[in-house]
Amino acid sequence: MYDMVLLNFTMLHGNISMDIRKNEAGYFMNIKQGDMLPQFKRFQQEYEEKALEVLRSGWYILGKEVKAFEEEFAAYLGADFCAGLASGLDALYLSFRVLHIGKGDEVIVPANTYIASVMGITMAGATPVFVEPDEFYNIAPERIEEKITEKTKAVLSVNLYGQACRLDKISAVCKKHGLYLVEDCAQSHGAMFDGEYTNHYCDISCFSFYPSKNLGCFGDGGAIVTDNEEIHRLFKIYRNYGSEVRYHNMVVGANSRLDEMQAGLLRVKLKHLDELNNERKEIAERYLAGINRKDLILPSVQEGAGMVWHQFVIRTDKREELMKYLADKGIGTLIHYPIPPHLSQAYEYLGHKKGDFPITEKYANEVLSLPMYNGLTVEEQEYIINTLNSFEG
Ligand SMILES: *Cc1c(COP(=O)(O)O)cnc(C)c1O
Repeated sequence: MYDMVLLNFTMLHGNISMDIRKNEAGYFMNIKQGDMLPQFKRFQQEYEEKALEVLRSGWYILGKEVKAFEEEFAAYLGADFCAGLASGLDALYLSFRVLHIGKGDEVIVPANTYIASVMGITMAGATPVFVEPDEFYNIAPERIEEKITEKTKAVLSVNLYGQACRLDKISAVCKKHGLYLVEDCAQSHGAMFDGEYTNHYCDISCFSFYPSKNLGCFGDGGAIVTDNEEIHRLFKIYRNYGSEVRYHNMVVGANSRLDEMQAGLLRVKLKHLDELNNERKEIAERYLAGINRKDLILPSVQEGAGMVWHQFVIRTDKREELMKYLADKGIGTLIHYPIPPHLSQAYEYLGHKKGDFPITEKYANEVLSLPMYNGLTVEEQEYIINTLNSFEG
């Protein structure tokens, strides 16, 4: 069996440094950048029992599981309300719809975010105004004010890679200028700033439950949390074709409902979220302690900011060589993200060009995400660290 694998591997890849891909027990290393299976297997019985319960209930959309999840997630975050939705993108664009932000309005957003943040703004009809990040990869609070015009209606902060933004400063700017503060928490389930969950500082917090997120489900899903009762009510209207009373449609809404299966499975996972986030933190700490190269820029956490380590992102100007070197040794990496939204084909119409956001563009050229997921073993991690430390770039 083992010889077969070796043979196949040699046939596929030629005779490249086979010994390095094996651990001490002689097995091949094949470490993905992200892997959702170990987490499922850890709680498999709980998930399967819940899945059967939902299947047998005869009720599949907006029912008791969704209601219970909304209550439990709001309670976990110390928020008054939660509304389950179909995706993180829906949470974002419906936020602007609900706040009546659209055509002719501007929303300030970090230039170095996942493109969904920007699409949330433009799908509502509003115009994104980009701001460069700080060295923690989050929107630089001191660069926001210079971008505010009379058209600005909101700031969309993004807790990128799991790290909370400087929400004390950002919320102060928003208060001073009468702007809404919406946050994209798709990568930051459970992150705090100054001892409070980030939603405490914001009008609306948008979550994605895409499977690879810290609190991921087993399909698509999303939610918002808010302390504002009217905003919550509007989300429940907008997500269901604009109706509060069946067949009485008050606004042109959307079909954006969390389903019972995902909500039930999310209830199972939510009970383990702190444990899962702690495991990510241990993984990050092992990387930080073990990687001893001066030429790689390791992630850092700013004072007061909570970090739930959605990704462990390093920077290097030898990214291509390093990626290939690691891939040859069975270590998967990914780039989050290679093309900043302002340079994407989708947003050509905004008229930005290369060089408009040099910090963002530099990051896009240098960032590399190491393997980070629940279930990454200590042994695998030691192998990654040793391999990285022996890179001759
Ligand atoms: C994943 C993600 C989204 C979008 O969530 P979906 O559920 O895939 O729609 C939005 N913003 C950020 C920062 C994300 O990482």
